[in-house]
Amino acid sequence: MITLNATHQADLTSWVDSANTAGNGFPIQNLPFASFRRRGSGEAFRPGVGIGNQIVDLSRLYDLNLFTDKAQQALEACQGIQLNGLMALGQPYWSALRLALSEALRSGSPHEEAIRPLLVAQDEAEFITPSRIGDYTDFYISVHHATSIGKQFRPDNPLLPNYKWVPIGYHGRASSIGVSGQAFPRPVGQTKPQNEGDAPDFGPCKRLDYELELGIFVGESNEQGQRIDIEQAEKHIFGFCILNDWSARDLQAWEYVPLGPFLSKNFASTISPWIITLEALEPFRTAFSHPATDPQPLPYLHSQANAEGGAYDIELEVQITTQQSRDSGQQPFTLATSNFKDAYWTASQLITHHTVNGCNLQPGDMLGTGTLSGPNADQAGSLLELSAAGKKPISLPWGESRSFLEDGDEIIMKAVCKKDGYPDISFGSVSGTVLKANFKSE
Ligand code: MN
Repeated sequence: MITLNATHQADLTSWVDSANTAGNGFPIQNLPFASFRRRGSGEAFRPGVGIGNQIVDLSRLYDLNLFTDKAQQALEACQGIQLNGLMALGQPYWSALRLALSEALRSGSPHEEAIRPLLVAQDEAEFITPSRIGDYTDFYISVHHATSIGKQFRPDNPLLPNYKWVPIGYHGRASSIGVSGQAFPRPVGQTKPQNEGDAPDFGPCKRLDYELELGIFVGESNEQGQRIDIEQAEKHIFGFCILNDWSARDLQAWEYVPLGPFLSKNFASTISPWIITLEALEPFRTAFSHPATDPQPLPYLHSQANAEGGAYDIELEVQITTQQSRDSGQQPFTLATSNFKDAYWTASQLITHHTVNGCNLQPGDMLGTGTLSGPNADQAGSLLELSAAGKKPISLPWGESRSFLEDGDEIIMKAVCKKDGYPDISFGSVSGTVLKANFKSE
């Protein structure tokens, strides 16, 4: 199990000056991972670690032979394009690499001169997904989201009876996951006919939405048939990113019975380039519990450690810009804020539940949390909730309004951990843009 250690000391500073600026988000206590190259270059993408406004090239760092033992072996696993190799090694290797990086990037490190030429400015880099994502599973762990969506369909009985017992999920699609900056055409598909018995409508989605989520990256795998106990679950989590799980609500409403979402969800999902390791999030653990009046988790979903600190205090924010707002130089407008700590299940419970039947998870797989809405109406993580399914359009400060997304709209999501006396740990951000549908009336 991870514990607070020398890499978490609040007063550590780096010889990379930009890492020491208050609120920069990538201080030496963070050390997030990504796959990058210089923008517009023909270089191979390769793993890097973020520090201030720079990236340390881990592929070249391996060549310097500055590190030893597990830390150097971890760098050897970073020789590929993405992070799957490092993820597969397991937590002792991740921790050894984090400690070695922390020591090498610290103010006064003897390695400053050797490492400085390996830095690439983040604003001169481009990114791909940090891992090759083999499988993507999406959950539904905000009881506030599930209740407010459920109310739209079943006003008297918003939560189905399984919700408080089982972490609800479905298998998503990995091929259409892109990294921040993704732009995609509005999906086309079938929607429910106006009158029962008529043929369905066919055309561009009219109720396009975002979902404010976190992605959980699987590290070390489990053998098929072998469950991951809740006490061991965190050892299988490499870290978290921000996830925008775009959703076509009108396609979803027509197709989701009886097997769940399909084409309404798999046309695009956009993630932030940076993975914040679980170890970096250690100072932001918080207690987890269900209300006393709710069913308590079944024994396989309960542990003392999970109850005492299985949740994480991560502040989330979603913003919008439109063609009009960008053309007139307006700032992005914040649609909502929420917090991961308000979720009904923890990341450990998702890993344990996913494998309870013997399903094998693999390094680089991603689990989505589901829309992370908070308890208050202004903490809703989707437009479906914020606009009450289109009944209450949201006024934007530059004069437009939105019930659902229009062509040209850009959604930006951010996440940050804050604590008094400790530097901010930022996830960076993820943006994505909706393009016009590829559709001619047919
Ligand atoms: Mn989702």
